[in-house]
Amino acid sequence: MAKQDRNKEQKRLGIALVGLGTYSEQELGPALKETNHCYLAGVVSSERDKCEQWQKEYNLKDENLYSYDDFDEISSNKDIDIVYVVLPNDMHAEFVTRAAKAGKHVICEKPMATSVEDCQRMIDACREAGVKLAIGYRLHYDPYHQEMMRLGQDEVYGKVKKLIAKNGMDVGDENQWRLDREDAGGGPLMDVGIYCVQGVIYTKGALPVSVTARFTKKQDPEKFDEVEEGLTWEMQFADGTEAFCETSYVKEQNLLRAEAENGWFELAPVAYEYRGLSGRTSDGPMNFKEVRQQALQMDDFARCIIEGRESIVPGEMGMRDVQILEAIYEAARTGKKVELHLEPFENLVEM
Ligand code: NAD
Repeated sequence: MAKQDRNKEQKRLGIALVGLGTYSEQELGPALKETNHCYLAGVVSSERDKCEQWQKEYNLKDENLYSYDDFDEISSNKDIDIVYVVLPNDMHAEFVTRAAKAGKHVICEKPMATSVEDCQRMIDACREAGVKLAIGYRLHYDPYHQEMMRLGQDEVYGKVKKLIAKNGMDVGDENQWRLDREDAGGGPLMDVGIYCVQGVIYTKGALPVSVTARFTKKQDPEKFDEVEEGLTWEMQFADGTEAFCETSYVKEQNLLRAEAENGWFELAPVAYEYRGLSGRTSDGPMNFKEVRQQALQMDDFARCIIEGRESIVPGEMGMRDVQILEAIYEAARTGKKVELHLEPFENLVEM
């Protein structure tokens, strides 16, 4: 191996997690114990105690613990190459732009932001700073989803004519930011319905040209006084294909299914989770080894930086999805079909 390649092999990039809530604690931290190209080098939180707990568990240096207030000082920290923003949705824009200004590459959790304008600001800030931006779309790294992309995009069963995508869960505690319109930007559509939008696009390998939608009737209007409790919608494609989708904060649902000219394929009953995915085609079951999605996702971003290539889940994809979510909300509010004029970008077909 050439010396230069060996150096590339050996460099592990330092990640700082911003926001030490459930997702960081239960998934990203543990995944960073399994990564090969990056490692947890720092944490950012308003709670000093929490930072110190993480410091013990991950052997972090004193100078790599930050609060939200002194976060900008991260610019001079050579241990930190990547900032990973894992905060409530409406805080993504602020912390991604601050990270970019600090000269750090950024991963931002989904949904990228609560408005298309914010997404554009985030992309511009990263471009101006010359840093890379990716969205925490872990499913692109899961073999079951990669198989859905392959079967659909390569037309293994002929052209995909119809898609069905459902993702819903019982959201739990009524006092959480997910039920606050300002913090979350919306309800289950922003949070878990976004995976249906993604799944449909990468299975079909095309962008929708219009959407129709309606809110489901609220069973608990008090709990869901700021955001929708559930929503059903359709996405239409230029070739006449239609996707039928549903999301909910009161109903458990997990399905991604494609019906094609000569067969069908689907992920169910576990389609969008971190573990335990299962799927089948009209020929029989799919059988893939379980992976740690987040470890593969973070390692790939680190390798993008090391090797100077673009992420397969770039900021432009995050913005495209927020554009579609906004169109779905508009369709549900007005009862009218909303046309979409989405700009394709490189890596649309994510394989
Ligand atoms: P969480 O509520 O468990 O954690 C949020 C963190 O933000 C906490 O550490 C909290 O202290 C901090 N915070 C700072 N300011 C806050 C404020 N004003 N209000 C509330 N919390 C505040 O949330 P989570 O489930 O970890 O989600 C965080 C982000 O990660 C969200 O954008 C969510 O969509 C995303 N997420 C992604 C996945 C995935 O599969 N990719 C899974 C879960 C969450």
